[in-house]
Amino acid sequence: MNRRCRTLHGWLKMNMATNYREDMTKSAAANIRPIHEHGANVLYQHGTLAQLVPGLLEGTTTIGELLEHGDTGIGTGEGLDGELIILDGVAYKIGQSGVAEVLPDDFTVPFASVHHAAFQYQCERSDIGLEDLNKKIVEANGRANTFFAVIVRGTFSFIKTRAVIKQQAPYPTLEEVADQQAMFLGHDVKGTTMLGYFSPLMFNGAAVAGFHEHFLADDRSIGGHVLDAVLERGDILSQVFDTLVQHLPVDNPEYRSHDFSNDPIAEAIAKAE
Ligand SMILES: [Zn+2]
Repeated sequence: MNRRCRTLHGWLKMNMATNYREDMTKSAAANIRPIHEHGANVLYQHGTLAQLVPGLLEGTTTIGELLEHGDTGIGTGEGLDGELIILDGVAYKIGQSGVAEVLPDDFTVPFASVHHAAFQYQCERSDIGLEDLNKKIVEANGRANTFFAVIVRGTFSFIKTRAVIKQQAPYPTLEEVADQQAMFLGHDVKGTTMLGYFSPLMFNGAAVAGFHEHFLADDRSIGGHVLDAVLERGDILSQVFDTLVQHLPVDNPEYRSHDFSNDPIAEAIAKAE
């Protein structure tokens, strides 16, 4: 297993230590570029979001395999079993209870994005809602047509997350499970990590165009797929990728034989995500 690269918190500490505390200017944020050491310029994705639309939910990779491609990431388990977040090489699942549990290496996954963390400090933000925050992050770094990851570390005055309830085979479509989710609300949540991936519009289907963000409190008391949030104060760190590795479950029989021509992919993703 490749864990040579600097861990997320290692990078965070380093970035904090090098006096980037002040708000970065727009042009400085725009200078955040891919880092090629340790493959930190590569986003590795297993499966596509489009596969989840018709209910191709079988786990076709494992946490152990994903950790070979990154120490940081998000995804979902087999049968939409919870919302996954990988931080510092440890994979957590937030299920119906809303409390995070650590996953074993053999836990199977139909869809996940991972990368080797090498975040760069972008700016500090306070008193800002999620939509505005996401908009400003893209505006500042000028990366609307580029895959990048974002980490927000700080205090959220409000957070609303969800976890989909695990489905059994034969699997329903993504639209059919939309109302089968647990919702969690947090107020004044300190010591948190929101990890998101931004995907360019032209990749809608392979991923969610725009941001896909998962959340975990340091004390693991709340987490999940982020629906809404207000950041009281937090540090924003970005990592830009110039390469997408798209890994597909080529030997999965359901994937091989499925006809996607009638699946409402864009509509279902817009509704579910
Ligand atoms: Zn999600």
